[in-house]
Amino acid sequence: MNVLALDIGGSKLIAALLVVDDSRFEIISETHRLLAADCRQEQLLTLIDHAVSELGNITFERVGVTIPGLADPHNGIWVYACFSGIRDFPIAQILSKQYGNKPIAIENDVNACALAEKKFGKCRDLNDFLWITVSNGIGGGLVLDGKVYSGHFGAAAEIGHFGVMDFVDGCQPPIQCGCGHFGCLEAEAAGPGIAKRYAWRFREQQKLNPTLSASVVPSYTAQQVAELARNGDTIALSVMETTGMLLGKAASYAVNLLNLEAVLFGGGVAQSFDLLLPSLEKSFRSRLFRNANPSVKLEQTGLGYCAGLAGAAALTLF
Ligand SMILES: [Zn+2]
Repeated sequence: MNVLALDIGGSKLIAALLVVDDSRFEIISETHRLLAADCRQEQLLTLIDHAVSELGNITFERVGVTIPGLADPHNGIWVYACFSGIRDFPIAQILSKQYGNKPIAIENDVNACALAEKKFGKCRDLNDFLWITVSNGIGGGLVLDGKVYSGHFGAAAEIGHFGVMDFVDGCQPPIQCGCGHFGCLEAEAAGPGIAKRYAWRFREQQKLNPTLSASVVPSYTAQQVAELARNGDTIALSVMETTGMLLGKAASYAVNLLNLEAVLFGGGVAQSFDLLLPSLEKSFRSRLFRNANPSVKLEQTGLGYCAGLAGAAALTLF
């Protein structure tokens, strides 16, 4: 089956044509567009139109759409995205009209990634697992009994808002999260939190080491911090270690609650999974009720950057 996949992120749109069957997917062609942070519905529809045109004279039977924020998959509505002006946007209905009444499936991007891992990835034989996206934010997608579990209000597995950091004298104060609370996993361990922790620890080093005191505090991105860690930068190594520790803490709470078989990690920050894994694993195992959870796997997704497109494709296998 040919599928048009639209992977809408916080800052970019990927449109792609895929060939999909029950167990695998193949990307035939794809194109990327940048999205403005304040992108409105009309602009988004225009961008989608242009991106799909660029894919050429394609034919497809179904359309899968992944969106950031809250989705109502049953009614095909993009309910809310905190970073944009989009609210209650009936995107499935609009795209269906545009594409000859073809079936359109939409879902939150993280839930779709979890579904893709079940259909095409490392979790084909698993029925109970958690997917965690670690990127500019942190989101969770939960598969229970082989199906995505969305919760009563459609917002299950918001692991990014697990409180993982408290105020402790002499330590970096907990970072305020977009949700308003302090010390959420998303605020502490997503890309911006990693950048802030590096800067904070650099300033602490300056206090101890007069030779550093004249240096400007660097403002590295999370990706740069990971590269520095690979080159042996001690502050960067300690920041990646703390990030892994916090992710492991949150994952252990989820597994102790739900008795899962595996936790999968995807997203940009999780590209540096090898740097995170030692402290993540240690922190996770030290908090796990082991007798109830004897063989839980912690793994990086094998879907890589394609996870979003694979997710959009997986949605159409209904
Ligand atoms: Zn929060």
